[in-house]
This record gives sequence, structure tokens and C-alpha cells, in this order.
Amino acid sequence: MRVTLTKQFRFEASHRLDHLPVDHPCHNLHGHSYQVEVTLTGDVNPATGFLIDYADIKRSVQPIIDQLDHSHLNDVEDLRYSTTELIAEWLWQRIKPRLPDLTKITIMETATTRCEYTGPTDD
Ligand SMILES: [Zn+2]
Repeated sequence: MRVTLTKQFRFEASHRLDHLPVDHPCHNLHGHSYQVEVTLTGDVNPATGFLIDYADIKRSVQPIIDQLDHSHLNDVEDLRYSTTELIAEWLWQRIKPRLPDLTKITIMETATTRCEYTGPTDD
């Protein structure tokens, strides 16, 4: 039996997108209450009835989210531009080694925007 599980996380952070033109609103210092969804897909273990215990997802992911929470994203190592696209990639690179069943990272920067990343492709 194959399933997809999703667990939500949140973090607050400031940033500015310095590479955008000065008249772009995201060039200015501002902040977001980010929502992150971590999605895993795989087969249910018949002995436990779980793909993975949600508590194990939290144990693996929360320390990574904590690196971003109440940070200024421009100061985060290896995060070149703190767009949702590149935050998703940054999270993927850190979560995938801990949770091999990871299939998608979703980030919501505002109530009306969403970025979904399903990992690197060959092209
Ligand atoms: Zn922003």
C-alpha cells in the first residue's frame, strides 16, 4: 500500500531581494510568516501501519526549520537569493538525506502564493 504524507511547519523570517531593481517592493527589507509542507511518498510498513511516524518527520525537519526561524534570510549560508524557489531547494538539500522518501517541498510565503519543488531534474 502506497501513501503520501504531508506535515506542516512554520517559520518567521526577514529578507530583502537585493538583486531586484530598487523600485521592486521585494527589494525593501520586509518579513513573512512562511508555511512549509514536507511531503513523503512510500509504502506502508505492515508491521507498524506507518510509512513513517509523523514524530520522526518532525524530529528530522524541525532542526532545519529552526535554522531559518527568526533569521534574516540574506545571512543564511548557501541561500543565494531567498526566493521561495531557492528556499525550497535549500530545504530539499538538507531534508532529503534525512528523509529519503521526500517527494515534495511546498512553501507559502503569503496566503495567496505557493511554490512546490519535487527535487532536481536532469535537464
Ligand atoms: Zn519577501
